[in-house]
Amino acid sequence: MMIRFLLFILSLYSFNGHSTELQLKIAYPAPSVAQQKVVKTWINQSWQATQAVLGDLPQAKLPINIKMQAASDSPVPWGQVNRAINTANPFDEVDLHVSPLANLASLSADWTLYHELSHLYTPYFDYASFWLSEGFASYMQNIIMLRAGIYDKRQFIVKLQAGLDRGHRQAIAQQTKLSEISADMWQQNAFQRVHWTGAAFFVEVDYHLHQKGLSLAKVMKRYNACCKVAKTSGFEWVNSLTQMTNDTIFVDKYLQYKDSIAFPIKAKPKVVKLAQML
Ligand SMILES: [Zn+2]
Repeated sequence: MMIRFLLFILSLYSFNGHSTELQLKIAYPAPSVAQQKVVKTWINQSWQATQAVLGDLPQAKLPINIKMQAASDSPVPWGQVNRAINTANPFDEVDLHVSPLANLASLSADWTLYHELSHLYTPYFDYASFWLSEGFASYMQNIIMLRAGIYDKRQFIVKLQAGLDRGHRQAIAQQTKLSEISADMWQQNAFQRVHWTGAAFFVEVDYHLHQKGLSLAKVMKRYNACCKVAKTSGFEWVNSLTQMTNDTIFVDKYLQYKDSIAFPIKAKPKVVKLAQML
C-alpha cells in the first residue's frame, strides 16, 4: 500500500565536512500547518542536539517518518528504528508517532526521539546483545538531554537513577542471565531490566573513560567516523572499541555483564560521580 506523506528536507549540518540529509515525512492525514511547523522545529533541534554530542552519522540521508496519533498522554507515544539491513530501505530510518496536541516544549522534553537517534550510532546487534543497544540509547538520551539543557545535573541524576532502580527491581524478579533475557525481551516483558542494565554498563564505561580524559561520546564519534558497520555481534563491537581506545574497559565490562543474573548495583553511585565530571 502506498502511504502518502508530506516531505520536508531539513537541516544540512556539517561537523566534519560531510553531513546527513534529514528527510522529514509526515503521513496523511497531515496535521495543521502550525503543528507541522512545531514538528519540524522539534526534529531539527533534536537532531542538532544529538549531533552536538555524537557527531555525524555515516549515512547520506536520514528519513524520519511521522504519524500523528490520536490524543495520547505521551507527546511521543511510539518510536522505533528501522534498520536498512532488515528492510528494503537504503538507509536506517526512524518512525515516530506524535500526539497532535503536543506543543514544542512537551516534545522537546520527551526522551523518545533522543533515544531513537542514539540507536543509529551503534550497529544492529545479535538478539542476545540487545542490552547493549538498548543500554546505549537509554544512557545516551540522558547525556543528550543534559547537554542540550533540557535536564540540569540534578534531573540527569534523578532520571538515570530511577531507570537503574526499575532495572534492578525487574532483575530481582527474573533471575535469568542478561544475554538470555535480552534475546527474549518482548516475550518476557523484560524491557526495564534489559534497557537499564545496559545503561548501567555505559555508566560504568563512561565513568572510567572520563577519569582518563576521554568520554563515551568522543569514542562513539570516532567509531562512527571510521568504523561503523551495519551489523555485528555485541562481542565484535566491544572488541573493536577496545582496539580503538587501547583500553580493555569495553570488553572487560561486557564479559562481566553479559551473563550476569544480579543487577550491577556498583553502577548506581557512579551516576553522581559521573555527573560531577560532565
Ligand atoms: Zn531502544
